[in-house]
Amino acid sequence: MPIRPQDLAQWWNRAPDGQVVVDEQGVILAVNRCVGEWFGVPAGALVDTPASDLFTPAARLLYLGLVGYRLAERGRVEEVHLELSLPSGQMLPVLCSARRIDYKGARLSLLGLMPIDRKHRLERELLEDREATDRLLAEKGAIIAELQSLQATLEARRQELEALNRRLDHEAMTDALTGLPNRRRFDRVLGGLLAQVDTDALGGGFTLALMDVDHFKAINDRFGHAAGDRVLETLARLLHDTLRGDDLAARVGGEEFVLLMPSTSPEDARRPLERLRTRVQQHQWQGIPVTLSIGLAGHRPGDSAAGLLERADRALYAAKQGGRNRIVVG
Ligand code: GH3
Ligand code: MG
Ligand code: MG
Repeated sequence: MPIRPQDLAQWWNRAPDGQVVVDEQGVILAVNRCVGEWFGVPAGALVDTPASDLFTPAARLLYLGLVGYRLAERGRVEEVHLELSLPSGQMLPVLCSARRIDYKGARLSLLGLMPIDRKHRLERELLEDREATDRLLAEKGAIIAELQSLQATLEARRQELEALNRRLDHEAMTDALTGLPNRRRFDRVLGGLLAQVDTDALGGGFTLALMDVDHFKAINDRFGHAAGDRVLETLARLLHDTLRGDDLAARVGGEEFVLLMPSTSPEDARRPLERLRTRVQQHQWQGIPVTLSIGLAGHRPGDSAAGLLERADRALYAAKQGGRNRIVVG
């Protein structure tokens, strides 16, 4: 939408600051409505009067000297502090900026007058806005820091929980008396081995040794339950010492232990187990006669866990029947 020159003239009249056009002799040619309102007269009433009459005597000197001089020298003046002398006797502090305008051969001046209290107000508002923004930024920073610390706390809790879960898992799979893996752990490992054997990932199959303390009830009866417990703990240690590579030893019952020996045939298993059996027999048990009967079963294709355990159990039974303190291969 094109703007017509007469519209511009109207807008000049409605400008929020005072505007004054002065000729070369310093006489007012035009003022906008804002100036008229300050002086309480129609704008036209100020035309043809000296512009310097607008100011207080002190400001008048400054206007004629500084503003006039700079306008003549440089063609522009920025924000000179002057005071308007209002008819009410009051004075209105303004910042006066001016431009020299060459118009149809005449040298005119355009003065812009901005009341200082308004400039101050604007600056104060700007400062308050900036302070409010700074406060918001600081609050945002504090919230972010709080979130980060919350996140760190959550992460620490998560790690604690993970560690607790690991400990619970471990405890759930461990025999409290001997520290050996328990029946639950043994079942899992056996299941894993059977799956591996079926996919042929385990070369040479594996052997399961089931061990039972001979006449343990009598040991308890003669030496006391606590002594029986010490025997079980020591046996667990001896058993643990015979482990090789991926072997797994577990306590699967009261006085029953099991040894899983991957990649080992029953024949190969026999030698280390004989050593274990002899060691147990020869250990200094402080007068307690401790021996082990052992039933061995090697994995056969298609074996289930139950089938394998049953064969080992039958071999163990045969060892007991055969006089105990011996190894039988099932
Ligand atoms: P066998 O030679 O035929 O194996 O005879 P045994 O006496 O060892 O067999 P039995 O199964 O009759 O006895 C096992 C005993 O083990 C009975 C039970 O009181 C004892 N027992 C089971 N768990 C524990 C335990 O944690 N500590 C102690 N001290 N004794 C236990
Ligand atoms: Mg038993
Ligand atoms: Mg027994």
